[in-house]
Formats: sequence, structure tokens, C-alpha cells
Amino acid sequence: MHHVVIHYNEIGLKGRNRPLFLRRLEANLLQATAGTGIRRVDERSGRLVLPLPRDADWSTIRERLRCVFGVANFSLADRSDLEMSALKAAVDRALEGRVLTSFKVSTRRAYKQFPLSSEEVNRELGAHVLERTHARVSLEDPEVTIHVEVLPRDIYFAFGREAGPGGLPLGVSGSVVALLSGGIDSPVAAYRLMKRGCRAVFVHFHSRPYQDGTSRAKAADLVRCLTRFQFHSRLYLVPFAEVQRQIVAAAPGPLRVVLYRRCMVRIAAEVARREGAKALVTGESLGQVASQTLDNLAVIEEAVALPILRPLIGSDKEEIVRQARALGSYEISILPDQDCCSLFVPRHPATFSTLAEVGQAESRLPIPVLVRTAMEQAEIQAFEFPESASAPSAPAMGRNDRGTVEACVDP
Ligand code: ATP
Ligand code: MG
Repeated sequence: MHHVVIHYNEIGLKGRNRPLFLRRLEANLLQATAGTGIRRVDERSGRLVLPLPRDADWSTIRERLRCVFGVANFSLADRSDLEMSALKAAVDRALEGRVLTSFKVSTRRAYKQFPLSSEEVNRELGAHVLERTHARVSLEDPEVTIHVEVLPRDIYFAFGREAGPGGLPLGVSGSVVALLSGGIDSPVAAYRLMKRGCRAVFVHFHSRPYQDGTSRAKAADLVRCLTRFQFHSRLYLVPFAEVQRQIVAAAPGPLRVVLYRRCMVRIAAEVARREGAKALVTGESLGQVASQTLDNLAVIEEAVALPILRPLIGSDKEEIVRQARALGSYEISILPDQDCCSLFVPRHPATFSTLAEVGQAESRLPIPVLVRTAMEQAEIQAFEFPESASAPSAPAMGRNDRGTVEACVDP
């Protein structure tokens, strides 16, 4: 029988929160691997061990584990009794049919009473594998590292290991509301906070009927991409055209983008209140566009009491694009769409605004009514991952007190 041996991010899991974090990580692992036959997580000397069923589909399990925050690395491992002879015999069996060109052995001992030191296990097992195969030892650049974990009751060993995403177990940091445009930045920003243990609720503003619905479809695809990391998501699709129409009537062109943003964060704060989220997240990066100067960010921030988190504030576009590609969101983000923020704004919006001029423009607007109406007309879509395992049989996901609910489970 195979096992998965998981090392978690130890630095992140130290201290008094550790039991809580571990329990969350274990629950997340079971949820991520739902439907694969994995039924149990064992805590073993600072590692987590998942016993695999006989017919386990490793490629599916591997894909799922790559998305579980808090996992530093994991491996498909074999078990042996706590003796060198048993270990060697088990390694021999595992070597059958496998061609090794070069290797090294890397041992970690959680059970310090084991008669051999880690270094001695490396040497003795290394010599044994050399005898059995035509491989050579390469300490610098081995084709395969044989990882050996000596635990109090048994030994696990694996050929190679996979990197996990790191970070903190999803859910340990509470919830945030992520403002998701169809662009490259905002999905990466949401991912960064999810990686720090936040569950994200998504909000997308669209300008139908002034614009087509392409941005809505993109937002949904982006949420589907991010749901791999949090198992279920909710996306609020908020109509923004009426807000924009009224801002256009009340304010000069250069000021409009900042006014749009102030209304967006107010509506997002209302979503946060309803969802019990503690902060908003945006993809803003300092100086990237006119609305993202320090002056404008301060004016936007003033509209809400909740913190606005901007994890990309100091990132270059290049770094963001690199992360978007790794995440798989980039290909979705670059599809053409009609973004609501480009509606009714001049080519060069103001890089500088003051609260005084913004306040003056807003005094001509029924802000609370606009926020309330937008909330009432919001559609909520629900997403699940893995899709079949935990999806409800009926499409309805339960009705929110105001918004209409659409289940959005992939075929
Ligand atoms: P992105 O690549 O995320 O679109 P951007 O660099 O294009 O970011 P802006 O268009 O100025 O920047 O938007 C700044 C942030 O405001 C976005 O990252 C996003 O968090 C939020 N935002 C902008 N437009 C929308 C929208 N239509 N719906 C939800 N949030 C939005
Ligand atoms: Mg954008």
C-alpha cells in the first residue's frame, strides 16, 4: 500500500496556533482529495501521512495536492518496518522495473533512537542501491533523490518529491472580498491573500447593457481557476452601469475613474458585511495607471472603513505576469473583453484628486441608494472544486436574502 507523506510549512505553523492550523490543513487535504478514495490523515512526527487506496489515481491526487496551501512538499511513499534490512528489501521491491541513472539518498530521522544516524542510513542504503542497479551516485545533481523518513514506528521512503504551494492553510486567516476585473492583476492579488490563509469571496462589476457580457464570462472563468485552491467560491456579479451613468452626469471626465472606484469599494464593503469578510483586496500596483497614484489610492481608501489590501502594490508588471502564468489565470485574462472602467472616461484621467473635489461631486449623487440598488440586482454564482465529488445533486445552492443564485458547476 502506498502513502502520501506531506511536509507542511513549519515556520508558518509554529506557535500557539499550530493545532488549529493543522486541523484546518487536515480538513482541507480531505476536501481537496474528495472522491479519490483517501479517507484519513495521520499526524506522524511533524508530517502528515495519507494512506492511499489500492487503485489510487496518483496523477489526480498530485494535481489536487499541488493546490493545498500549507503543503510545503509531498511524495508518493512506500512503507517499511523500522529496520535497515526491511528498508533495503522494500526499496528493492520498489526498484523493480525502474531505471535509475543517478541518485542520492536523503534521510531525515524523527526517531532519534534508531541505531543509525541519518548520514549512516544515506551511506548504507546508497551502497545497497548501487549494488542493485547500474546507477551512479550524484550528490550535486541526481536524477532522483530517495527520501527516507525514519519515524518512531516505521520508515517511509519515496523516489523524488513534489513542491506544494506553501503558504498557510486556507481559512485560518478569515475571509476577504476580492475585487475581480477581467484583467491580469486582480486574480493574482486574490491568490496572494488566499495563500496567506484567506478564503476569498469574489465581486465583479459589469456595465451591461452598455457593454457586452464578455467580462462576466471572464470573471467566472477566473473564479473557476481560483476555486481549485479553496474548493467552493461565490462570485457576485454586480451591475454597475447605472452607477456610472449617474457619476458621468455629476462629475467631470478626469475625476470619474476615482469616483467609480470609490463606489466599487463601497459596494464591495457591503458584500464583505454580508459575507463576514474582514478586508477588501484589489490588484492595484503603485503607479501602474492614473488611478493608482498614492494620492488617488488615498482618496479611494477614504470611502470605506474596511482595510483595502493591495498585495501587488510593489510588484512590477513582469512579476505579476509571471505569477499569472504559473497560476493559469493569464490565458483567461488576456482574452479581449469590455471593461466597465473604460466606459465614459477620458484617455488621460486625473492622477491627482482631492477629497474636496470628490466630495463635491458625490454630494450630487444618491450614494446609499446606488449601493443598495446594485446589491439588490447582484447575481451570485457558486463554484465547486472538485466538481463532482462535493457538488449538490440539485443545481440550486440556496438563496441569498437578496441576490439570485445560480449554481455554476462545470459539466
Ligand atoms: P486588473 O489587471 O486587475 O484589471 P488593472 O491594473 O487593470 O488591474 P485597474 O483597472 O485600475 O487596474 O483596476 C484596479 C483594481 O480595481 C483591479 O485590480 C480590481 O481589483 C479592481 N477592479 C477594476 N475593475 C473592476 C471590475 N470591473 N470589477 C471588479 N473589480 C475591479
Ligand atoms: Mg483592469
